[in-house]
Amino acid sequence: MEVINNIDEYKNILKDEIKKNNLVIFPTETVYGLGANALSTKAVNKIFEVKTRAKNNPLIVHLKNASEIEKYAVIENEVEQKLIDSFMPGPLTIVLKKKSCIPESVTAGLDTVGIRVPSNEIAHRFLELVDVPIAAPSANISSRPSGTRVNDIFNEFDLKVNYIIDGGESRIGLESTVVKVIDNIPVILRPGFITKEDIIDIVGNCKVSEHVLKSVSLNEKVESPGMLYKHYAPNTKCLLVYSKDINTLRKIVNDNKTSKTIILGSEKLQDIPCFKFINYGNTLESISHNIFSLLRKCDMYNGDLIIIEGVEKVGLGLAIMNRLIRTSCFNYIEK
Ligand code: AMP
Ligand code: MG
Repeated sequence: MEVINNIDEYKNILKDEIKKNNLVIFPTETVYGLGANALSTKAVNKIFEVKTRAKNNPLIVHLKNASEIEKYAVIENEVEQKLIDSFMPGPLTIVLKKKSCIPESVTAGLDTVGIRVPSNEIAHRFLELVDVPIAAPSANISSRPSGTRVNDIFNEFDLKVNYIIDGGESRIGLESTVVKVIDNIPVILRPGFITKEDIIDIVGNCKVSEHVLKSVSLNEKVESPGMLYKHYAPNTKCLLVYSKDINTLRKIVNDNKTSKTIILGSEKLQDIPCFKFINYGNTLESISHNIFSLLRKCDMYNGDLIIIEGVEKVGLGLAIMNRLIRTSCFNYIEK
């Protein structure tokens, strides 16, 4: 795999690569994407194969401008239009009724399609130069933490993808907010940087799907199939812990730590004796920016348990906890 630092020098190569139905990894403001021509079933199938992604987990389609949405999907009401006008380009995916040009392989047979217009400048230039809609999940092998740094994911894709465009560290570090308007009310299917409160400010109301913080059984009907899977996980076993009270939090950590425990948390826990302490930052923004990369780093210490400090489930904290609950396979203590 070749790392591209200057996209302008590779314009024709990238265009050809997408035309040949091959995959290109590109940066966005959320996480890196594993992209392919969304209009080609052959290209889309390669994404599922390379990522070992479950076939019933639909892909998000990335467009260069919001003005292109109606080529591929139907905007059915004013609430959808308002969300598009207010949050695109940006870290929002809107689920809309799909048009027939979007293959079923992209949407896993659903009659809807998730659409996103990234605000990252390099992503925008990539989409402009290839000039086709790009289907892209997060660039990581399924169930692993999402890719937010080139070095973190290089080995995962080295022999399977020819080009990765380096855009530095992903600014946000967590995937987009996925929203679907149901009965005129925006429903968050997957929380992200754009919060429930941000959406309420614009359209007056917003619900959060009950599946965001709970485990989903395989035979349950879910609006967002991505919620079904083991996700965002390092190889080392994880335990997520949370308490508003710092003494209770420290007691949970002390009661559960082993001799080879890595603690991944804020400075609140840094003086607890343990095998290794890793500071993930002290603001929700820094935690979201760092978390996936640090989870990968934890594996390098060969510990037998990662105790991860949780955060309050409000604002961006809801998105962080949605990911960490899955990272830890619902191994979660809250007191
Ligand atoms: P990822 O590609 O790993 O960022 O995951 C994409 C997320 O978007 C998954 O949780 C999917 O379930 C969700 N998604 C994509 N398209 C749709 C759709 N048409 N309807 C509902 N959820 C979707
Ligand atoms: Mg993903």
